Amino acid sequence: MQTITLLGATGSIGVSTLDVIARHPDRYSVFALTAHSQVEKLAAQCQQFNPHYAVVGDQQSASQLKTILGDSGCATEVLWGRDSLSQVASDSAVDTVMAAIVGAAGLVPTLAAVQAGKKILLANKESLVMAGGLFMQAVADSGSVLLPIDSEHNAIFQCLPEDYKTSTNSSGVKKLLLSASGGPFRGWSAEQMAAVTPDQACAHPNWSMGRKISVDSATLMNKGLELIEACWLFAMPASNIEVVVHPQSIIHSLVQYVDGSVLAQLGNPDMRTPIAHALAWPERIDAGVADLDLFEIAQFNFEKPDLDCFPCLGIAAEAAKVGRNAPTILNAANEIAVQAFLDQRISFMQIANVVEQTLNGQQLTEPESLAAVQECDEQARLYSSAYIKRLEK
Ligand code: NAD
Ligand code: MG
Repeated sequence: MQTITLLGATGSIGVSTLDVIARHPDRYSVFALTAHSQVEKLAAQCQQFNPHYAVVGDQQSASQLKTILGDSGCATEVLWGRDSLSQVASDSAVDTVMAAIVGAAGLVPTLAAVQAGKKILLANKESLVMAGGLFMQAVADSGSVLLPIDSEHNAIFQCLPEDYKTSTNSSGVKKLLLSASGGPFRGWSAEQMAAVTPDQACAHPNWSMGRKISVDSATLMNKGLELIEACWLFAMPASNIEVVVHPQSIIHSLVQYVDGSVLAQLGNPDMRTPIAHALAWPERIDAGVADLDLFEIAQFNFEKPDLDCFPCLGIAAEAAKVGRNAPTILNAANEIAVQAFLDQRISFMQIANVVEQTLNGQQLTEPESLAAVQECDEQARLYSSAYIKRLEK
């Protein structure tokens, strides 16, 4: 029996994870579920899965949750606040932690799980983007097993040799080909995108996801974050990773070898496949996903990304090459800019502008501690928030 803490249980990845877990009650038990503010949804999940703990963001949400659970006779203990997230992620009773909080808020509890040597199912790509060096060092130090949930990285993981450690060993891996759907605005001009609304940006053609990652997918910043994520996960320089736009989202990514072989992982666009893969790895379990029907799909297309219309991808690729704290700044500025776009304070095309200006306005340093990463994140947020205020005038 694997005991699991699910950070971000009420989100899109959280719900898909619980769907897979519910199919295998003989294999998985839930130790803790966490959510930021969706108390009723979390309460329903507690009633179904009976975790030891439920964690919410603040005291008020905690008392609401306690009342609902008390009335229904559910024995789950309710905790609140950031330290409680780290506590349930590192508790000695836990084997596996699904890291599915969105954004920088996921870093500290995910690192706590890594430091406690847990098996980590990593959906929260932002933590690797923000603090990749520290994160991977902590994984090496604790011996924790790190399995990617992002569909592209999970695909690459599945296509790499079992003993793969770094790109410089004798595995024969030449290049990683990172799939991108192109998002809802593939083929649009910058003029057409000038007036898009948050709802249009969040209506992804193939995937159903949370709003932040949906906007990131529409700007292609998501692919930029994933490029940085892939560099860290697979010890691969950015120059050996190529983004391939594949609008059908069936080939989730590919690995090119020196002998000319290219291995790919295919499947319907349903996050339950990478979640089930990582949960059961190295075994395979049913994920509830429909069989792939190649005859219905009939064709696959591939294009190069349009960096003129989607500048975020180029900005992120540059940050990956520059390294140091550039990815930390990029991530922080992007989170602020995406929220400002969702709040209708800036336009879609201004997201790239905010990120670029923030990168230009911050000093490059080597963040050598978690505190340094957090300080850099904070400064970049202040800078981009101030820049957005100026844009609004
Ligand atoms: P979501 O917005 O649907 O859910 C986010 C979860 O995080 C919720 O449970 C929310 O309560 C929690 N949360 C938000 N802010 C928090 C805070 N400050 N403190 C603690 N908890 C907080 O997001 P999602 O689409 O499920 O994505 C989660 C992560 O997985 C992101 O990092 C995303 O990039 C990654 N990811 C998602 C998908 C997908 O298909 N949705 C695919 C690949 C990677
Ligand atoms: Mg992805």
